Amino acid sequence: MDNQYLLLTPGPLSTSRTVREAMLKDWCTWDDEYNKGVVEVIRQQLVALATESEGYTSVLMQGSGTASVEATIGSVIPTDGKLLVINNGAYGERIGQIAQYLNIAHTVLDLGEVAQPDADYIAQQLDQDPAITHVAMVHCETTTGMLNPVAAVCDVVKARNKIMILDAMSSFGGIPMDIGVMGVDFMISSANKCIQGVPGFGFVIAKQAELEQCRGRARSLSLDLFDQWACMEKNQGKWRFTSPTHTVRAFHQALIELADEGGVAARYQRYHTNQRILVEGMESLGFRCLLDASLHSPIITSFYSPEHAEYDFKRFYTLLKEKGFVIYPGKVSNADCFRIGNIGDVHNQDMHRLIDAIRASMYWA
Ligand SMILES: *Cc1c(COP(=O)(O)O)cnc(C)c1O
Repeated sequence: MDNQYLLLTPGPLSTSRTVREAMLKDWCTWDDEYNKGVVEVIRQQLVALATESEGYTSVLMQGSGTASVEATIGSVIPTDGKLLVINNGAYGERIGQIAQYLNIAHTVLDLGEVAQPDADYIAQQLDQDPAITHVAMVHCETTTGMLNPVAAVCDVVKARNKIMILDAMSSFGGIPMDIGVMGVDFMISSANKCIQGVPGFGFVIAKQAELEQCRGRARSLSLDLFDQWACMEKNQGKWRFTSPTHTVRAFHQALIELADEGGVAARYQRYHTNQRILVEGMESLGFRCLLDASLHSPIITSFYSPEHAEYDFKRFYTLLKEKGFVIYPGKVSNADCFRIGNIGDVHNQDMHRLIDAIRASMYWA
């Protein structure tokens, strides 16, 4: 079964046929073949992808990426802790919402969607409120495509001995980084983004000494990050509750394909070139990017909608879908945009074909 169109979305995204084929077998969640042979291998590989530093471990968690964010926020911050949320888009805002739902003391720094968070400003906020124990931020804010200055923010957070939580959902595996060097304590991502697996679980890569402090802190049984980790450690890859076996097996294949491509650096190059071809092509057709080029990640790009009375996103979308491409609506609050993703099993020649398809779909022009 081949796909009828490419998903140019921030996930779930287009996966390779071999990743999808890896799901054609059933697995026993008690058996070593699955636990040691698949889950434990994934856990080790994730840590190796995230950092060369010692002292990190990983936990896999059922659900979409948000479940892993919620598991982390809900399991890491103690009752007397306080979270500072750096918000410059929908995913930052969602972290604030999670803290609100879970009754965790928190402050949300609303920084707008089109400017980068400023590390000095964050340092000031930390100095003004010594009750803050934890800081959470998003790496690539998928709302706009902005790449946030994580290393600079980590520096001010770690200089004040706070715990750093990073939502690297849409960037991990697609942008080179070393969380140990930056001092990130908990990094969250999911199966269906840059590793190019299928949806069904997320994962957290954590400084083990910090995770060990989290026993008994969780505000939810099924999202208890510590307990999930303890079970996987004790029973060599065993999940506490039913694990998404087929998805996990597909992810194992996706990791092999990431290595075959040449690792994160090679994947980053491909995404980066995809994005360059996309932006050059779109600008030549008269579209304008929401963000300044210097703020862009290679993950996803927001374009202003054409200011033409006849333009209608749904109609444009449908014309492109008929030609084999699925794009994404905008998510920015105060600008009319649409988004095109560069991640997944999408290659440079696909981006050239996309530009041709867009040219042929500009019915308003
Ligand atoms: C995709 C994404 C999430 C999680 O989304 P789910 O729909 O729950 O999988 C969280 N944060 C960022 C930055 C994302 O891109």
